[in-house]
Amino acid sequence: MTSQGTRDRLVQRLRDDGIRDERVLKAMATIPRHVFVDEALSSRAYEDSALPIGQSQTISQPWVVAQMTQVLMDGGSPEKVLEIGTGSGYQAAILAGLVAQVFTVERIEKLLKLARRRFHRLRLKNIYTRHADGHLGWPSQAPFDGIVVTAAGAEIPPELLHQLKVGGILVIPVERQGAQRLLSIRRTETGFEEKDLGGVIFVPLLSGLV
Ligand code: SAH
Repeated sequence: MTSQGTRDRLVQRLRDDGIRDERVLKAMATIPRHVFVDEALSSRAYEDSALPIGQSQTISQPWVVAQMTQVLMDGGSPEKVLEIGTGSGYQAAILAGLVAQVFTVERIEKLLKLARRRFHRLRLKNIYTRHADGHLGWPSQAPFDGIVVTAAGAEIPPELLHQLKVGGILVIPVERQGAQRLLSIRRTETGFEEKDLGGVIFVPLLSGLV
């Protein structure tokens, strides 16, 4: 149930559901998602659904991970990427195969410790982690070619816009009129271009450390 065949079937499903970037599909076929959930849930790891990871948090649905990654990679080859909301570490692991350096920030230390162990186990050496409030980004490593936020807030944290390179893309779920929308924001020479990618459901972006 955790074999390559199961993973390949998930990838076929992602393809059927509109994921087109072959680089992203390959990463999804390679990274074992069952490593990122509790053993009791491993038989469900290749279903296209979000799953609990403890601390009232969830590992995102595979399609959402693929879509956010595809948008982040759109039209280029980002090298230095920031993720806000490490959670299980799955999204960061997918990114690690696609970009040179992944910086990921998590506010819940317990989750971060588990994620670090998984990165070590899978020998993912280009992921750098930080226990901090992601609203502030990672100033000492900025600017980034891309930023992905995996929790939804009422607004776009201004620091994240500041830490984006010109040409870089921020992918972020934001609450608008009582529902969450996934936005992509590209920084241009003169400002920011926003696209609405549709409705999504994420856990809340919270402040402070736990
Ligand atoms: N990318 C994760 C998704 C985890 S859910 C994965 O692939 O598993 C979102 C995560 O965002 C949660 O772990 C939550 O604790 C974290 N989070 C919420 N607000 C945050 C903040 N302000 N800074 C950093 N992490 C935050």
